[in-house]
Amino acid sequence: MLNSQGRPTSPGEAAAALHPTFTGNRALMQEEPLIFEIGRTDVTGVDLDEPAPFEPRLGDLERKGEIGLPGLSEPETMRHYVRLSQKNYGIDTGLFPLGSCTMKHNPRLNERMARLPGFGDIHPLQPLSTVPGALELMQELSGWLLELTGMQAVALSPKAGAHGELCGMMAIKAAIAAKGENRKLVLVPESAHGTNPATAALIGFTVKPVPARADGTVDPEAVKALLSPDVAAIMLTNPNTCGLFERDVVAIAAAVHEAGAYFYADGANFNAIAGKARPGDLGCDAMHINLHKTFSTPHGGGGPGAGPVVLSHRLARFAPVPFLRREGSGITLVEHVSDAKGEEAPFGRLCAFQGQMGMYVRALAYMLSHGIDGVRQASEDAVLNANYVRACLSDLMSLPFGNRPCMHEALFDDAWLKDTGLTTLDFAKAMIDEGYHPMTMYFPLVVHGAMLIEPTESESKASLDLFIASLRDLAMAAKGGDKERFTGAPYHAPRRRLDETRAARQPVLRWTKPAPIAEAAE
Ligand SMILES: *Cc1c(COP(=O)(O)O)cnc(C)c1O
Repeated sequence: MLNSQGRPTSPGEAAAALHPTFTGNRALMQEEPLIFEIGRTDVTGVDLDEPAPFEPRLGDLERKGEIGLPGLSEPETMRHYVRLSQKNYGIDTGLFPLGSCTMKHNPRLNERMARLPGFGDIHPLQPLSTVPGALELMQELSGWLLELTGMQAVALSPKAGAHGELCGMMAIKAAIAAKGENRKLVLVPESAHGTNPATAALIGFTVKPVPARADGTVDPEAVKALLSPDVAAIMLTNPNTCGLFERDVVAIAAAVHEAGAYFYADGANFNAIAGKARPGDLGCDAMHINLHKTFSTPHGGGGPGAGPVVLSHRLARFAPVPFLRREGSGITLVEHVSDAKGEEAPFGRLCAFQGQMGMYVRALAYMLSHGIDGVRQASEDAVLNANYVRACLSDLMSLPFGNRPCMHEALFDDAWLKDTGLTTLDFAKAMIDEGYHPMTMYFPLVVHGAMLIEPTESESKASLDLFIASLRDLAMAAKGGDKERFTGAPYHAPRRRLDETRAARQPVLRWTKPAPIAEAAE
């Protein structure tokens, strides 16, 4: 059976059509071994003269064995890395529906701005007097973050969302210590991202899970039942990881504050509400913002992230160094705890230097080019796109919390696969054959066989329609009993189904040279 482009439609046929080739290449998709497998240690791209005899001064430290570096010419090296780069799937290649990750387009204007020599070429050890523009940019970015979140202070330096969580929770810990209290418990809803309980545990708190209601949200009564003088904070994501707005967030915040505890908001899902709702107005005390999600700076192998943390008036004074302080007409960078003034009580320092300058530039370029109305519209479009996907698939795929509006991600479960003998994993692998990076799978944990789809506002209606049509085609094949299309998938990827359990349990982290294979002719 051939489709309109003359391609085989059944994976069985497709697989049969793939005759093994002599080279291992598949058409123009080149098989690419590891660089150590193609290189030879006796060859390099340059010829160096043998050094004149000399007395090594390293004593015992001199290397005895072969160094084992692969020797390749420049064109061979070039090809190796370009081929590897072509195996990368990214938002610049196609739709990337990975839920909770906000894989949105990074406008190239941001890249141009980040490469301006005044930003791209500065060094963190340069005297501050030579970088007033960079400080001004950080101040302007801080202003946007505070305006969008309705908070009082910002710590720019955390380098990712999880690092931001650590920052916010350390500020909470410092605030509790400053009150002379010793609270030990942190409440974390069952649907939370794994980094939330991990962060709390890392700095010595004991995590208490908060059960989810049948509708996927947190019940303020369930929170109240767990509150006690021993509770330091709640860590809540809003919209939550089920793609639902926690509609009782204000009541939850009030109860938490009444118990003398703090409200940490996981802001990774800010793309659903930026420009629409201000977390400060909802009662948050600390929230990280993934610049690499909401504000489009590259991530997922595309570049470093940045996770600034905004703090409410309850926590502002505990912000870590370095932070910016406006003094007269200028801005200074407070780099040492000992330079704190007045109310300031920084809990310490999280990292060397000032954070990810390149990401600050990209995020501010995104904000300035969108304007506040554009930021708001991006959030609205992200929510609209997710609801479009949900509505167009809801007759075939099951929704764990009923067919009601979602925020910026549509969450399906695997109930609809029940009689097919197929799993969420099988479905995701078949998506790869169709040219799509799979959605987030098996997360959040509260939903069985979860499939979390976040299309973001980057996608056009045409691109969403093709994606939806592909998923519908797959869903109908699954329901129609075409098991082979799924259980053997991916058929077309450079590597077929891998043993992911073994890879996780027994990871091979170091390449070792395989024993030479005896020549068949011997
Ligand atoms: C992405 C994400 C995080 C962690 O952010 P990183 O930048 O990956 O460290 C935390 N919580 C949620 C809900 C997320 O989606």
